[in-house]
Amino acid sequence: MKYISEYRDARLVRVVIEEITHTVTRPWVIMEICGGQTHSIMKYGLDQLLPIGLELVHGPGCPVCVTSLEMIDKSLAIAAKPDIIFTSYGDMLRVPGSTGDLFSIRASGADVRVVYSSLDAIKIAQDNPQKQVVFFAIGFETTAPANAMSVMQAQKLGLKNFSLLVSHVRVPPAMHAILGSPQNRVQGFLAAGHVCSVMGFWEYEPIAEKYQVPVVVTGFEPLDISQGILQVVRLLERGTHQVQNAYSRVVSFEGNQPAQKMINLVFEECDQKWRGIGVIPSSGWRLKPEFQFFDAAERFQVQNISPVESPLCIAGKILQGLNKPIQCPAFASQCTPEHPLGATMVSSEGACAAYYRYGRTS
Ligand code: SF4
Repeated sequence: MKYISEYRDARLVRVVIEEITHTVTRPWVIMEICGGQTHSIMKYGLDQLLPIGLELVHGPGCPVCVTSLEMIDKSLAIAAKPDIIFTSYGDMLRVPGSTGDLFSIRASGADVRVVYSSLDAIKIAQDNPQKQVVFFAIGFETTAPANAMSVMQAQKLGLKNFSLLVSHVRVPPAMHAILGSPQNRVQGFLAAGHVCSVMGFWEYEPIAEKYQVPVVVTGFEPLDISQGILQVVRLLERGTHQVQNAYSRVVSFEGNQPAQKMINLVFEECDQKWRGIGVIPSSGWRLKPEFQFFDAAERFQVQNISPVESPLCIAGKILQGLNKPIQCPAFASQCTPEHPLGATMVSSEGACAAYYRYGRTS
């Protein structure tokens, strides 16, 4: 198929859903890892077309949602300092911290700017040598290569006024954490196609083997997602736990090796705190010691932060597939996109935002 419209063809999707219905013989719980997939599922009503007993739960693959509250509070503290230009992806501006968000800091006079990539922030740093320019480097494996490249670029240009507030997260350790939890319900995964376009899917084979779960690399259009579900269901029904690729038009086994090389050049693995979930071992990337000069948290000394999360928010449980947004007592009442209590209600990939936007009440 050549055109995106073909991956949204309702007739083709229905054929795959019928095949799923014929294949399923018992209840299964499948997690779509990425928030982009969650939004597609809600938008096209795919979950409502599935046979009874086949349940989709929503995973932690929304970078805005899992960026720790502590890191949000650090971003607010840095952005509020004088002579700083704080740059970020747009989604992060509305994420609630303990005492406000980046929008409220901007409203009180701080220079907070939305950019599309860290390389835009480099340009701002070149144009404003009298100011310190900080980029909020959040995200999964997808954004890490460009952020690593910006560090290399800043070094090459000799920029002394550019730094990153780094909060990168990695998918495979999160899968380990979910599957290793005594409360785990997930029996199969739709892996996030865009993450795999960078990293390949070689990292998933030991996970599938260890926990005996099938993993299918899946895209984002309704036909991609239906096909991914069908492949997971077939593997579950057969009792096998392979890793398969249902997104071969984009993803290869080994992934984008120059991008992986760039990540490994600049970053090293570290334990990382995930919002609402806690610390997951080796689940993050931080700057290597030789690039510490570009670490905004060090440069601006915002190390001692004591974040305060809303006691009503159950986003951590939602991101582990243990609850659905509508099970949160604050959903659509105290917590709305206009007055969010948690990041999953404001992110364009957040599960609570998807349920709210598409009017889901069940
Ligand atoms: S509805 Fe709001 S308070 Fe409830 S889990 Fe989602 S973000 Fe948190």
